[in-house]
Amino acid sequence: MKKIVIATKNQGKVREMREALSHLPVEVVSLKEFGELPDAVENGTTFAENARIKAEFYREKTGCACVADDSGLEVEVLGGAPGIHSARFAGFHADDATNNQKLLEELQKAGVKESPADYRCALVFADTDGTVFTSEGRCDGIVRMVPRGENGFGYDPYFYTKDYPDRTMAEISFAEKDKISHRGRALREMVRRLEEYLK
Ligand code: IMP
Repeated sequence: MKKIVIATKNQGKVREMREALSHLPVEVVSLKEFGELPDAVENGTTFAENARIKAEFYREKTGCACVADDSGLEVEVLGGAPGIHSARFAGFHADDATNNQKLLEELQKAGVKESPADYRCALVFADTDGTVFTSEGRCDGIVRMVPRGENGFGYDPYFYTKDYPDRTMAEISFAEKDKISHRGRALREMVRRLEEYLK
């Protein structure tokens, strides 16, 4: 059976991918199976480039087909920031709280209380024979300075989606988020591509 390594140390993401691919003849494993591995140098300029860098890097390190992802938030009035720097917007030791604080400061500096924004996610599959393909998902919305909700993570309490305009991403259920999120969309597209590829 073909082994696909999910290039993440996040067990939630591995579980999600294992479930999504459970109908296919593949064994989905986590990077943890391969012991301590160095981090890939994510020096791309787009989500898709960084996902590809990670997928190809860990394909070389593990000798297995690999899927990697990259995602983040783009805020229009901030020229698309934090973008590919979403995880470390507030610096090297950033966490959700400090990143959100930085988001509020930047909106304030820009003199606005809200801005159109979108979440993006790219997934890249890299096989050992050199085959590479990408799927991307996007979720449009507005960031506002008033946080609401306890679900989700990251910038979710500040992100009001177009699909549920009165609620933030942190106020909708996991199932609702999955239907409309950048990640859910990219994942479903990747599953379709893999179904085709593995036929
Ligand atoms: P990564 O691609 O999983 O490393 O995520 C990059 C960063 O983008 C995260 O640390 C979050 O700050 C942000 N991000 C990505 N997807 C979401 C989401 O669905 N909700 C909230 N924040 C997100």
